[in-house]
Amino acid sequence: MEIICLKVGQMGTNCYLVSDEETGQTLIIDPGDEGDFISTTIIENKLTPVGIVLSHGHYDHCLAALELKLNFSIPIYLHQADLFLYQKAHKSHSYWSDPVGAAPRGRPHNPPIDFFLEDRQILSFGSSSLKVIHTPGHTPGSICLYSAPILFTGDTLFANGVGRTDLSYSSSDDLQKSLKKLFTLPSNTLIYPGHENTPFFLSDLKTLEY
Ligand SMILES: [Zn+2]
Ligand SMILES: [Zn+2]
Repeated sequence: MEIICLKVGQMGTNCYLVSDEETGQTLIIDPGDEGDFISTTIIENKLTPVGIVLSHGHYDHCLAALELKLNFSIPIYLHQADLFLYQKAHKSHSYWSDPVGAAPRGRPHNPPIDFFLEDRQILSFGSSSLKVIHTPGHTPGSICLYSAPILFTGDTLFANGVGRTDLSYSSSDDLQKSLKKLFTLPSNTLIYPGHENTPFFLSDLKTLEY
């Protein structure tokens, strides 16, 4: 597997292009914004995108989903429990970036989700694959994607901490259970988070309280 990390949007989200080396088939993980930048990178690297996978429904992970779906005619994958967040992503973005509503409204809505992700589902692309691990907590439908030794964690786990759980639909109890699940993976697991420094080893997090 080959991984290209692009920092996109106001929140500096890590969008990952994960490719099967033999075929160039590529999954786009968390296209948070800047769809033209992501598309250009895909074309320049001669990659063949086959799907858009969202680690969760927050707007900073999915604002470019429509543009990429239209550009490449590929399906979008999300856990069903985050559909309510995905559906209001553009509205949330307008609110957080412009709380007084001065800017013109009317950004497009996200397109429908094509496939809902399930815990332990395998996503295959070329001869590569990623396994879905449902990790609720930060949001009810947060997922991680695993292919030893690589783990994409979205906003569940960062180099310096964990995703926020102060939102009405978050659950710190669920997050703790999810982290316990992740900490059963080998210590040489290489983590690619949704923000900040990437990648880092699971073993670097020994001191993290969870
Ligand atoms: Zn988030
Ligand atoms: Zn985020």
